[in-house]
Amino acid sequence: MVKNYINGELVEPVSGKYFDNYDPAEGEVCGVVPDSDSADVNLAVKAALEAFKSWSVTPVEERSDMMMKIASLIERDLGELARAECVDNGKPLTLARTVDIPRAVKNFEFFAHAIHGFASESHSTDNRAINYTLRQPIGVVGAISPWNLPLYLFTWKIAPALITGNTAVAKPSELTPMTAYHLSELCREAGLPKGVLNIVHGYGQKVGRAISQHPDIKAITFTGGTKTGADIASVAAPMFKKLSLELGGKNPNIIFADCNYEEMLNTTVLSSFRNQGEICLCGSRILIEKSIYEKFKKDFAAKVKALKVGDPFEHDTDQGAIVSKEHMEKILSYIQLAKDEGGTILCGGNRIELEGRCKNGWFIEPTLIEGLPYNCRTNREEIFGPVVTLIPFETEEGALMMANSTEYGLASIIWTNNITRAHRAASKLQSGIVWINCWMERDLRTPFGGMKSSGMGREGGMEALRFFTEPKNVCVKL
Ligand code: NDP
Repeated sequence: MVKNYINGELVEPVSGKYFDNYDPAEGEVCGVVPDSDSADVNLAVKAALEAFKSWSVTPVEERSDMMMKIASLIERDLGELARAECVDNGKPLTLARTVDIPRAVKNFEFFAHAIHGFASESHSTDNRAINYTLRQPIGVVGAISPWNLPLYLFTWKIAPALITGNTAVAKPSELTPMTAYHLSELCREAGLPKGVLNIVHGYGQKVGRAISQHPDIKAITFTGGTKTGADIASVAAPMFKKLSLELGGKNPNIIFADCNYEEMLNTTVLSSFRNQGEICLCGSRILIEKSIYEKFKKDFAAKVKALKVGDPFEHDTDQGAIVSKEHMEKILSYIQLAKDEGGTILCGGNRIELEGRCKNGWFIEPTLIEGLPYNCRTNREEIFGPVVTLIPFETEEGALMMANSTEYGLASIIWTNNITRAHRAASKLQSGIVWINCWMERDLRTPFGGMKSSGMGREGGMEALRFFTEPKNVCVKL
């Protein structure tokens, strides 16, 4: 049973109420989640405020050691955590073992080290004065994260928040609470002082909202859908909270004829369907130069048809279950929309009913669609599933116009061996991240985030450390 983690204790929700948690591969209940509300958030904030008094002045070295300790405990429990992530989310166990959980370890380790290189500015004003900037912790921060990369994204927020001396009230997605619960047990084992991290489980409308609304929470870091981000901003902005919003995407994957074809093809399978296409960075609109369109279509469809959709526990499964029945239905409704808009399904397009343990699970075939105008709804709205569209282009200019034609601006991928064109296109793409001849090549020091409706602010490296601190200028007259 999942419990809240408040003031260092694992506790039941004040209401005593719970709701069901589902294993998407089986379509069955696998546990219960606290149905917490503002009463629990209030207790968490009270504990975090108290803890802030000592944590904010705890030497950086000690905070860093604590992050390293938590990292090593996550690493120790990698197998158990990967299994929990797989049961909660439906993703292949191999993916959770090799990507999700190792990255959670890295998040703590990275910020434990990064803090030592975090310096602030000093400005010498002629011979009259010296200005220097203090970067102080903000106070209690709120962290709200989604279900697609549960522990990975949860720790990506918590580690920089805590290393900079803040205390936190955090809420994982109610669809994937298990690894966050396990993390709370590990924090207790590591000896994290009580109240430094508080984890409140439950629905976004209750817990998430209570976090956004709480007057003593001074900053919110959120990853999730654009609509939810707007809702949080509408509550938090009038209270002048600091906001970091990592939102949805509709990322273009632009393929020029002069690319390294085999590498592009293999990576495009991953950038389209990894984690069931439920990664905000997946390239869901594939723009292909016309001269190789037919060849690409044939070769890509053959690779996609060979992907194994199956039991997430099986080691050769490429694509697991969709996180929830509602999300599966949403994806299927987008496939129907694509047909209504005149698209042709090249492969996939249906729910899959597996045999055995997974017979009631929520699985969808990897789906390729062509023949749609670049500006139809299917090509503009985020589907967030194993569905990609193929769109031919004739000129670089045309490709960039289509790539930039949605309200989103999170990530773009370019495949070309023409170095001048690659850099020119990268500078013109309206997205926070551009990958040239690769995808998901991550360096945790780089700024991470989106423009337009994909978000506000940047995570990662010094950007995150700046977000979680308040700059204060001190002017000394000479
Ligand atoms: P949601 O926006 O539905 O939810 C994200 C989190 O916010 C959940 O914990 C949710 O709780 C909570 N929440 C919901 N409503 C509110 C509210 N009114 N106030 C405060 N919190 C609330 O996103 P999903 O979980 O469905 O995640 C998928 C989305 O996340 C996609 O759009 C994807 O693109 C985006 N994403 C963006 C990334 C980025 O870095 N830019 C990375 C990964 C995903 P509950 O679960 O109870 O609804």
